[in-house]
Amino acid sequence: MKSKIINIEYIEYNSIDELGSQYNRLVEKAIEAAKYAYAPYSNFKVGAALLMKDNTIITGNNQENAAYPSGLCAERVALFYAKSINPDNVIVALAIIAIQNNEITDYPVSPCGSCRQVIAEVIERQKNTIVLILAGKNKVFLIPDALQLLPLKFSFVKEK
Ligand SMILES: [Zn+2]
Repeated sequence: MKSKIINIEYIEYNSIDELGSQYNRLVEKAIEAAKYAYAPYSNFKVGAALLMKDNTIITGNNQENAAYPSGLCAERVALFYAKSINPDNVIVALAIIAIQNNEITDYPVSPCGSCRQVIAEVIERQKNTIVLILAGKNKVFLIPDALQLLPLKFSFVKEK
């Protein structure tokens, strides 16, 4: 028997401005996208912005529904849309923010378990990791390899 520990690496910033211009712009796009979210049930508007390898940006936001499970998270709206219009365009980075009471949240929001599973499979499918940026007003987390967010994930691939 062996006891094992899994660590994940992430970088913490104290503001969105500290991120640098490229990721800063991505966060701005996520904020813009969140404004168009359809979230009448939770009043929690989430925006996601993907930086593609060809330097374009694709955004998504949460789309809720009265039949609750029928809605979809912002990250998955953006990821599925990006891969549906061009499956070969590699996603380089993903920024996520949330707006509550018309303001970006103080602390970052993190993807739900289902989104982590989708992010993990997109990374494996495109054979390129995704930098994840979780931005809040007072704290920003940058996870250099989003695959780390879901250790021991569901997979058909035999893992070590
Ligand atoms: Zn989710």
